[in-house]
Amino acid sequence: LQEFSDIDTWVFDLDNTLYPRSCDLFSQIDVRMTTYVSQVTGLGPVEARRLQKDLYRDYGTTLRGLMVTRDIEPEAFLDHVHDIDYSPLPKTPGLEEKLRALPGRCLIYTNGSVAHAERTLEAMGVDPGLFDGIFDIIASDYDPKPSAAPFSRFLDLYDLDGTRAAMFEDLPRNLVPAKENGMVTILIEAGNDGDFKVESWEHAEKQAAHIDHATVDVEDFLGKILDVMA
Ligand SMILES: [Mg+2]
Repeated sequence: LQEFSDIDTWVFDLDNTLYPRSCDLFSQIDVRMTTYVSQVTGLGPVEARRLQKDLYRDYGTTLRGLMVTRDIEPEAFLDHVHDIDYSPLPKTPGLEEKLRALPGRCLIYTNGSVAHAERTLEAMGVDPGLFDGIFDIIASDYDPKPSAAPFSRFLDLYDLDGTRAAMFEDLPRNLVPAKENGMVTILIEAGNDGDFKVESWEHAEKQAAHIDHATVDVEDFLGKILDVMA
């Protein structure tokens, strides 16, 4: 973990990275995406679900797929899918403590919205203000990770030197542009304490060369980094 001693920017995905997949928050969003697809297309729930997953696979996010194929209003979609119950999120004061202890800046890079990120952090008892920025799907011009163009804009916006940055993310493919820009990459794995609805292709590249580290617990991993730096 010595390689973390030069890191001055810590980049975090939000969903299923800063909170555990096991609290099932994202599955609420997933279900609301299905109802939205159903409303827009008139398809029944089973067909809408299939289309949603095809769009997600082919366009990076369901939203992107709907914008390209159905010309939908992205703001209405984001409001609909993030209208969820945040109470299943665990309170994680230890995570806030470790984020504050990291040297340099913390940033969030999410395929969701700033509003969703802030509500999520507040429900976890983590101050959104400790992050120096939240780069969301709107800042990305609705071009989701792992697309290279918004990643470059993200680097420019925060004047970010990739060789001095680390990125934490639960989807292996989203770490590809991070590694291409010289970052240390950390995959947050689902763990095996539940029956998760993980798409098989999403986690197919777990062992890939662009993944430097893997952990099931972001807070625990940050603790280990801080121990090495102390
Ligand atoms: Mg995620």
